[in-house]
This record gives sequence, C-alpha cells and structure tokens, in this order.
Amino acid sequence: MSSSLAPVPRTRPTRIVLGLGVLLMAAALGLGARAAFRHSYETGFGRAETALRLTVHALEADLARYEVVPQLVADLDMVQRLLANPGNPALRTATNVWLLDQSDAVQASDIYVILPDGETIAASNYRKGAGSFVGQNFSYRPYFTEAMAGTEGRFYGVGTTSGVRGYYFSAPVLDGGGRILGVVAVKVGVDRIEQSWRGGEYGFLVTDPEGRVFLSSEPGWLYSSLDTPTQERLARTLATRRYADAELGELPLERRRELGLPVFRVASGDAHRDYLAASYGMAGAGWTVHVLLDTAGLRAEAWRIVGSLVLLMCAAAFGGLFVIQRRARVAERLAMQRYATAELERRVEARTADLARVNSQLGQEIAERRATERELRAAQASLVQVGKLAALGQMSASLSHEINQPLAAARNYADSAAILIERGDIARARDNIAQILSLVDRMAAIGKHLRHAARQPEDQLGAVALASILPEAQTIVAQRLATSGAVLELDVPPDLPPVRAGATRLQQILVNLISNAADAVEGLPDRRITLSARADAGKVTLRVRDRGPGVPPAIAERIFDPFFTTKGMGAGLGLGLSITANIVRDFGGTIACRDAGPGAEFRVTLPAADPAQAAA
Ligand code: ADP
Repeated sequence: MSSSLAPVPRTRPTRIVLGLGVLLMAAALGLGARAAFRHSYETGFGRAETALRLTVHALEADLARYEVVPQLVADLDMVQRLLANPGNPALRTATNVWLLDQSDAVQASDIYVILPDGETIAASNYRKGAGSFVGQNFSYRPYFTEAMAGTEGRFYGVGTTSGVRGYYFSAPVLDGGGRILGVVAVKVGVDRIEQSWRGGEYGFLVTDPEGRVFLSSEPGWLYSSLDTPTQERLARTLATRRYADAELGELPLERRRELGLPVFRVASGDAHRDYLAASYGMAGAGWTVHVLLDTAGLRAEAWRIVGSLVLLMCAAAFGGLFVIQRRARVAERLAMQRYATAELERRVEARTADLARVNSQLGQEIAERRATERELRAAQASLVQVGKLAALGQMSASLSHEINQPLAAARNYADSAAILIERGDIARARDNIAQILSLVDRMAAIGKHLRHAARQPEDQLGAVALASILPEAQTIVAQRLATSGAVLELDVPPDLPPVRAGATRLQQILVNLISNAADAVEGLPDRRITLSARADAGKVTLRVRDRGPGVPPAIAERIFDPFFTTKGMGAGLGLGLSITANIVRDFGGTIACRDAGPGAEFRVTLPAADPAQAAA
C-alpha cells in the first residue's frame, strides 16, 4: 500500500522560509559581531581610561611630593650661607653631606645648589667624581633661568652629565633682602615609574608638549615624536638639550578611530599593531599621558564572543531545524495516515462495489438458473410426453401388427370356411373354424399379456426365499424348455438368504429370463441354461446364463426398452425384459446383461430381506 506513497516534497514556501532564516541569522551574526567588537573595545577603553586616571594621579602625586623640596632646601640657612660664601670649603663639604642625606631621605636622584652664573657648587652626588654635578654649569637649563627669574622652575629631560632621565624642580635662594643668591635644583629619576609599568597589560607613554615620548613602558619608543615635529619645535628641544645626546626619531604612528574610539596604529616592519589610546593632558607638567591597550587581545575576546554567538546560533539553528524536521515528520505521518485512511475507504468502497456486483451477478445467475430449470422442466415434460407418444406409437404399431395379422388370417379362414360350408365340406370348414379359434385365443393372450404389463403389482414386498418360488417357476417354463430342448441347471445354495421381493413378481423375473434363454439356445448344440444364486454384502445376486449367441453390443442398450424385440412377427412382443427391469426396480435392485462368451448372462441383484442373514 505504502509503496505508492511518495515522500512529502520540500515545498517552495519551506525553501523561502529556510533562505530567510539563513539571511536573518547572517544579519544577526553580523550585528552580533559588531556589537561584540564594540563591547570589547568599549570595555577595553574603559579599563584603559581607569588605568590612565590612576597613572595620572600617581604621577601628579609623585611630582607634588618633590615640588616643595627645592623651596625647603633654599630656605635653609646653610645653603644661603654657602651661596653668600661660595669659596668656603667647610661650608661646601657640610652642604654636600647634608644634600646627600636629604636626597637619600626623599629618594630624589640628585639635589644640588647652583650659583647665579650657572655653576654648581654643591651636590648630593659630590662623591661621584666625573659624574658629579659639582663644577658643572647648568645655565642653559630652563629650570635654572626660571628660578633665576624668581619663580619656581620645572623641567624634565635627560641629564647632560649623567645621561639619566629625570624631572627637575628648582627654586631661587633668596637672602633677607629678597636678592637671588642662587638656585636649588632637585632631580627626580623616572626609571622607577617606568619600572612599575613594565610587564603589565597596558602600554604607557608620556609625551612632552612637543609630542615627544619622554616616558614609555616600551624602551624602543623613547625620545620618538608621535607626530612629525615642526622645525621650530625641534629647535626648541635642541636648545634646551632636553634629551642631551639621545637620538630624536619619529614613531611610525598613525592616529585613527575604530568604532568611534581613538586608536594608535604603530607600524613595525611590514606589520603593524593597533592600540586603543586613552590620553590625558597634565596641565601642571605640560605632559600628555597615554595608556595604550593592544587591540589584538580585545579582538580575540570579541572573536571569542562571536564564536560563542555562532555556537549559540548553530544550536538555535539545529534546534529550529530539529523542530521543523519534527513537524515535517509529523505532517508526513499525518499525510500517510490520511492517505492510508483514504486508501482503506477506497478499498472498502471498491470491495463493497465488487460485492454488490457479485451479488447482482448471483441474483442474475439464480434467475437464469431458475429460468433454465423451468425450461428444463418444460423440456423434460415435453420429452416425457414425446417418450410417451413414442412408446404409444411403438406399442400401437406392435399391437396392430399382432392383432391385424391374426385378424386377417381369421378373416381368410372364415371366408374359406363359408365357401367350404357352401360346398358341404364340413370337415375342412371345421378345421378352418378351429384355426380361427386358435387365432382368437392368441389375440386374447396378447390382451392378457398387456394387462399384465400394465397391472399394478398385487403382491406386497417381503422376505421371499428363492427356494419357495423356484418349483412353480420351473413348472411354468417346463413346456418352453421342452419345446426348445433346453436344459435348466440349478446352482442355488441351500442357505441362500431370502430376498426382499414379491413372490409372484420374483417368479415372473425368473420365468422371463429363463424363457429368453430358452429362445436363445433353441436349435443350438449346447442348450444348457444355468440359474445360480449367491449372497454377498447384504445382497443376493441371481444369474441366468445360456450358451446362445449372446446380446450384440449394438442392441445391448435397448433390450430393456418396452416393445424392443429382435424376434420375428408373432414370436415376441418385446415386453419381457422391460417388465422384468420394472419389477427389479420396484424391489430396489438392479439388472444388467453381459456377454458370457459364449452366451449371455443376465444378472439380477436384489437386497437381502435380512442383511445380517444374507451376509452370513
Ligand atoms: P421378446 O422376448 O418378446 O423379444 P424380451 O423383452 O424378452 O422380448 O426380449 C427383448 C430382446 O432381447 C429379444 O428380442 C432378444 O433379442 C434379446 N434377448 C433377450 N434374452 C436374450 C438371450 N438370453 N440371448 C440373446 N438375446 C436375448
């Protein structure tokens, strides 16, 4: 049934829905990726800004810590005295020692005292020999000129003597009259600040107002300019010898914006790295602090989110597909069920129609059978009628012959008798009359015969012993046997069981069969006729056998028909076997004739009166 069921095809609307689903997912993925990148960048930038704030605070706190130191030193009596008497070696020594102590105490790089002409007369690093500031002239340094101008000075740069980067604070040393005696300068090392930046997540840059990197977590970027410096700026930097003999390069940096956020793209060779850059300008120091966050990490994080999103969407898609598939399967099953139900209904209808057809056919056949039966009955009735007519015809022909012939003969004899009487020949006339009487007797015998044939049986059926009727039958046929010279042999067992029959009719059967046998053997050398009887299986079989010519096969079928005879005119009516067969039928037995080679054998089988006795 299901072999003809086609799979439910993927419909056009399903494909459109699928296509739309894929498009939607692609769009969602695109948006999701953008949102992931934006989120990642903004979070990163937020962290960078926090780091920036902390860094700026730390830097400002650091600077504030040292800002007051020069003034405190300048206010010292010892310093003022030294500047008033620069040639006093004891004062110098005492000041040097004291400066060294103070420098160690405040963790400054160097503290030193400069004469108005720029020469350093005392310094905390007085013991460093060639590295000592003592005797060095710093008149070119802006912090010196600023202090000499009466204000507090600030400067950052590379030490021309030490080659070490530092931040310089300065203050003028005033005497009681407000006259400037000299300058006190404090240099603070920046290495330890950088030290704290290294190895962290963020990159740090501090640039000066000229845009040159002064502090950096990346040593390679130091002293490079973030932007292409103008000649004027370059000249300014060189004049102050801010970075001493350091090489002043330019950082291969491109400022850009990604997702609305500032990004520094730094090239290195063919590749480049992008950093989110949070920047803050420190008003006091004139520095700009940049905190850089490598976007590679942010991008990796964003990609991770996108990956999760893809996984999530895949899961959702698979879930969706599963649901769609499930629904399709359910729909398919429903369709199959519907198909099966429809198929079943169709089959039931077809079967019902078949049955109705068969039913009507049967009805038709029954009607036809009935009609045929009616026709058959009619045919049978007409056949019976025809048969009756035929028998009547045959009988009339036979009777008219049997009666006409003696009638004609009797008439002749009567005519002759009349003539003979006229002639007076009475004797011959009497002979003729005797002949006429014989003919009349014969015709009377024919009538008697016919009556006998048509007569209803008088005797009742009952147990008849063959032995009881045999003598009379023998007496009846004795004359006939004598005429033909035939001899009747008997082979009847004494214990033969009685048969169910009528005694007179059973006798007639024997008489008829023996008479026919006698007719058959007349004039032949072997004229023995045998009557035998045997009992078997509740039946008794009588056999009458002669050694005559037998019954030719051509007429064997017809010998039991009434009025069938092969004997000449006046010899037989053809009723003997017909009457015999009727009687046998009445007794519930059978009669048959067979060729006994030579001769004929008529076999009559009759039911035994007591089957048990017959069997015994
Ligand atoms: P009928 O003796 O008057 O002819 P039946 O009915 O007795 O009439 O016999 C019919 C025919 O059967 C006979 O004419 C004869 O041809 C044949 N017939 C009967 N008995 C014998 C027999 N014993 N041998 C040969 N033919 C027989």
